[in-house]
Amino acid sequence: MRLRVSGQIYTCLRRRYTTVTGSAAQVQQPLNYVNGQRDQPQGRDQASRFDLINPATGEVLRQVQNSGVEEVDGAIRAAQQALPSWSRQSGFDRGQVLRKAAQLIRERCEELARTEVLDTGKPIWEARYDIQGCADTIDYYGGLAAAITGEFTQLAGGSFAYTIREALGVVGAIGAWNYPFQMAAWKSSPALACGNTVVFKPSPFTPLTAVMLGEIYREAGLLDGGYNVIQGEGETGQLLCRHPGVAKMSFTGSVPTGSRIMEACAQDIKYVTLELGGKSPLIIFSDADIDNAVKGAMLANFSNQGQVCSNGTRVFVQKDVAQQFLEKLVERTRKMKIGDPNAEDTTVGATISSSQADKVMAYVEGAKKEGATVVYGGERVSVSDPWLAGGHYLSPCILADCHDDMTVVREEVFGSVMSVLTFDTEEEVLRRANDTEFGLAGGVFTRDLSRAHRVAAGMEAGSLYVNNYNIYPVGVPFGGYKKSGIGRENGRDTLDYYSQIKSVYVEMNDVDCPY
Ligand code: NDP
Repeated sequence: MRLRVSGQIYTCLRRRYTTVTGSAAQVQQPLNYVNGQRDQPQGRDQASRFDLINPATGEVLRQVQNSGVEEVDGAIRAAQQALPSWSRQSGFDRGQVLRKAAQLIRERCEELARTEVLDTGKPIWEARYDIQGCADTIDYYGGLAAAITGEFTQLAGGSFAYTIREALGVVGAIGAWNYPFQMAAWKSSPALACGNTVVFKPSPFTPLTAVMLGEIYREAGLLDGGYNVIQGEGETGQLLCRHPGVAKMSFTGSVPTGSRIMEACAQDIKYVTLELGGKSPLIIFSDADIDNAVKGAMLANFSNQGQVCSNGTRVFVQKDVAQQFLEKLVERTRKMKIGDPNAEDTTVGATISSSQADKVMAYVEGAKKEGATVVYGGERVSVSDPWLAGGHYLSPCILADCHDDMTVVREEVFGSVMSVLTFDTEEEVLRRANDTEFGLAGGVFTRDLSRAHRVAAGMEAGSLYVNNYNIYPVGVPFGGYKKSGIGRENGRDTLDYYSQIKSVYVEMNDVDCPY
């Protein structure tokens, strides 16, 4: 039997669908999370509120109050109060809390993923993948917590020294909008494993899931005040960075903001780690499996509507296979399905905001003016579903005839815009690949093992892929060279950025003093 529904009833069903999953209920709750409970900032100033918009529909879901001096200070005080008890627990006990949190995240994956879709407009299967990955990360740091130890050094005459790895204190963290839950998890879990407490500020575009993480940590046994969330725009972020109670800032976002955060941290000589933007190269040699390279190039450009910092947006293809590569790429890209992020078969969801969509389209128009050829996409798409009419949907864009000096090839677009360039030799392509102020990621497709390692060694970037792209298995450090940042996340080395070393010298003999 075919069910016929009018547009209005259909809309109601869709609203109901969202509500049933529980994600809509998350929107109405207070969105600060301080000292183990949700909290509503008391500001009455209308000008100090921002709209939370569902990117898929354009609908204003609610207004969110910016956190001011009082709220930021309150969250930091809560974190300071929790610090002594949390940092004195054994690593094993801290690890147990994290491992339990990971289990709860897996159990609540669907609600978390639906809420992430509401915030970001990304396809539901991508959101599920992100949430499961976060559970793995938290599990991983839970497992490592008991192994965070110092070292022992035997010295002359029986004397010795040992080191203690201590927490830094209260960690302030600020995230971007493309992977909201991941940023909260990637920053808080290593920080907590090392015995720090955390105050996290999500992007104002995506405030919802970071608060849910707070409730999960609490249920898993984290002390109240161990993990706090404050909402707000850039000014709230600055209050956090400049607060004397914060020992370290961990930031993910754009290069200009990263630079401002570093400047704010310089005032009190705070630790700072930065995960910033990129304009990464993906090199495809003619001996590569071209079908595989096509898939790699799509993963490197079209996931999450292209809003991925590590994207390999400068795709260098060796000249003799460039035409074949482009034909196969267009054929496969044509099959991508643009539309409702909550539908299981959607592969391209909504762009985060109208200003981001305008920015992406301006890069496409600029590229055309500078001589690039659009071989596929690069257009605004109106999806047939009336419920989604207010969202911003863009077709993935493939640009050919690109050259190194074009604006679209030099600047980070943060949208699904792939620039295809051609090259002749390995030496030439390495030089061109490294000719950028960024150094976040890079990739190479080839069947030649020696070349693969040579090119990976030659690329000036922190995260490299051979015959794949944009996968982040837990335990593999992620982070950038050059203007792409300082520090690493998602690996064992990350613990170095959330702890400090105290060394203790122990004399076993009389003091040998020349005076
Ligand atoms: P922004 O740098 O604009 O913002 C990031 C966060 O910083 C937001 O929460 C923002 O709040 C806040 N912020 C802005 N100004 C200040 C300030 N002066 N002091 C303190 N906080 C501030 O980045 P986007 O959110 O637009 O994210 C896109 C960028 O993030 C891209 O450049 C991308 O490459 C990068 N990114 C890097 C990743 C990595 O791991 N390397 C991963 C993901 C994204 P508000 O919005 O109110 O300004």
